[in-house]
Amino acid sequence: MSFDIEAVRNDFPIFEQTTRGKPLVFLDSAASAQKPRPVLDAMWELYTTSYANIHRGVYELSERSTAAFEASREKVRRFIGAADAREIVFVRGTTEAINLVAATFARARVGSGDEVLITHMEHHSNIVPWQLLCDQAGARLRVAPIDDRGALQMDEFEKLITPRTKLAAFAHVSNALGTVNPVRELVELAHREGVPVLVDGAQAVPHQAVDVQELGCDFYAFSSHKLFGPSGVGVLWGRAEHLEAMPPYQSGGEMVLTVSFEKSTWNDIPHKFEAGTPDIAGVVGLGAAIDYLTGLGLDAVTTYERTLLDYATHALEAIPGLRLIGTAPHKAAVLSFALDGVHPHDVGTILDREGIAVRTGHHCAQPVMERFGVPATVRASLALYNRESDVDALVSGLQRVREVFR
Ligand code: PMP
Repeated sequence: MSFDIEAVRNDFPIFEQTTRGKPLVFLDSAASAQKPRPVLDAMWELYTTSYANIHRGVYELSERSTAAFEASREKVRRFIGAADAREIVFVRGTTEAINLVAATFARARVGSGDEVLITHMEHHSNIVPWQLLCDQAGARLRVAPIDDRGALQMDEFEKLITPRTKLAAFAHVSNALGTVNPVRELVELAHREGVPVLVDGAQAVPHQAVDVQELGCDFYAFSSHKLFGPSGVGVLWGRAEHLEAMPPYQSGGEMVLTVSFEKSTWNDIPHKFEAGTPDIAGVVGLGAAIDYLTGLGLDAVTTYERTLLDYATHALEAIPGLRLIGTAPHKAAVLSFALDGVHPHDVGTILDREGIAVRTGHHCAQPVMERFGVPATVRASLALYNRESDVDALVSGLQRVREVFR
């Protein structure tokens, strides 16, 4: 499928404006992505034509709202290649998905002396829930190291899987480094020892096709807002047999079948994990985002972004005093860097004056910063609506930074 970048940009109303008097150059999609018109339209349409609470009403509006909500579940199923729509749990985002697994599945399996294995490149939301769990259970958090390019050291990961390991959790794609992990291989290593695997897919799904059955993992988590959908919604995919065996997470309406003061019984999956009124329009918006991406063709997006990432990598490498952090052989859409003698926040502030939005800071991955000996980096992250001129603007902006700090 060919990729028409100008048509794509026209789908995103946000690019119709200027910021700081300059055309907007948005290079922070790893934090949150912009929204195409079909996503906004789908939410508008739901609110203006079919909105009511779901799974409850016997009247037509509620039936329509429920149908739109459940249609999104089926879209997500297809999008990630899940076997069954019952395996798709709607949550608030990746963070909640990981907390859900930590508080239920892992809580029931991890005891004193056990271990949970993560990697050194994780986002805080794939570190802290395991840390809390380990503290509560008297278990130990083990961390597989990364090399100087930011690639996972596979042999070390393998060595850290022992009979004590009760779960492994790692990112598909690192938000701070852009490293793409060989998920299938890692899952095989873990499964060989009977260790279940959670994959944090927050930074993967916007950039590449994902098939959870092919990856072979046990859980996969992602957020709608990084996938061009609305914020406040995310997905936990889990194998049906796990979800069925897991105790509930949050409790209240919808997740129950029967309630009495003596005892309550649980609804079927996935509803058992969807207590309370969900973000109905958000879920519908996520469905529209998936339709949008599928319409463009994820393989076309991946190919387009690969060329753009190569272009950007070469352009930044040519800047004197710029150190790229995260140069793993297999990378996606993220360029983290440090500029000699200039604090990342100053870089970000000067770039902002040029209308260029980048992220500066530790990117919720402080252990990565510590590993590379920097307090923070500047991060330019690319998405399907970026083009070479955005990269050129970044390079000119960095020249401007040099002039200011000469
Ligand atoms: N994991 C990774 C790799 C991320 O990049 C992010 C978001 N920065 C998260 C988890 C958390 O996602 P959310 O804030 O949407 O819950």
